[in-house]
Amino acid sequence: MSFSTDVRGELARVKVEDICCAKSELASALLASGGIAWRGAERYAVSITATDAATVRRYFSMLKKHWGIAGEIRVVSGDRLNGLTRYRLVIEEADAGALLKELGLLEKPGPFGIRQVPPDDITGYSCCKKSFVRAAFLMCGEVSNPERSYHIEIAAPSEAFAQRVKECLEYFKIACSLTARRGKYVVYIKRAEGISEMLSLLGAGAAVLTLENIRIQKQVSGHVNRQMNFDQSNINRTVEAAGTVIEDIKYIDAELGLDKLPKSLREMAFARANNPEHSLSALGELMEPPLGKSGVNARLRRLTEIADKLRGGEEVRFGRHKD
Ligand SMILES: [Zn+2]
Repeated sequence: MSFSTDVRGELARVKVEDICCAKSELASALLASGGIAWRGAERYAVSITATDAATVRRYFSMLKKHWGIAGEIRVVSGDRLNGLTRYRLVIEEADAGALLKELGLLEKPGPFGIRQVPPDDITGYSCCKKSFVRAAFLMCGEVSNPERSYHIEIAAPSEAFAQRVKECLEYFKIACSLTARRGKYVVYIKRAEGISEMLSLLGAGAAVLTLENIRIQKQVSGHVNRQMNFDQSNINRTVEAAGTVIEDIKYIDAELGLDKLPKSLREMAFARANNPEHSLSALGELMEPPLGKSGVNARLRRLTEIADKLRGGEEVRFGRHKD
């Protein structure tokens, strides 16, 4: 099952109690699914078609509860193109005209007069704005699997409808974009945070949890990757710095012989040469007794000084005591 299917399944079960919201949802579902057709005179064919039965049942119950209209649910077998079985809620012609008037979907005069968006008052309350977007998503929405990418969209049949969806989302401070694509007007969000806000607004709480968990996992693994890159670049820097000291050590060995060095410097020379990737503190731990960073640094500097003196032809002397 896709994430989209899960979200639709959840949204189809969100309870709508008030008739204001029921009106807004039905108007949105009818317009978004392109389910209103003019049949001449004052006759209209009204239906809602969806790929999942739960969505169709949702509107079947809503019609019955609030308007006492008994629709009929039909199974439409898949067409040759995509083979998807669809479910269609058909409203009898006798009920259709009155319902459309009730939902404000008819323009006053026109025979064709089906509006592309309901009048403003249908989506006036904030509860009704949510309902409007919820139905639009149920009819023509998609959300990508957050494991792969962040994208949610509603592909509306008209620009006016898409604009209303956008206004409703923006009312709740959810930023979204609108674009035209293959005859549809698409409202979309690509930010994980925005998708999460939209799903939570519509009532898909379980989907929000799934999305947030995936987001956290991605952030953690992103952080781990950055930390690994950071560690690697530190190692590179240590190795680079170690490189010049190792050259000095090799030079001392060739010109003087490491066995001539006092014990403390000799041990440090071997430790550095054998462990070019070790940090100063890691080198210090190899010493017996262990040595702090500044102690390690002092001995390495001393090795470099010795090498420089040898290069300059200077005599190198060590104190009598083996330091
Ligand atoms: Zn409402």
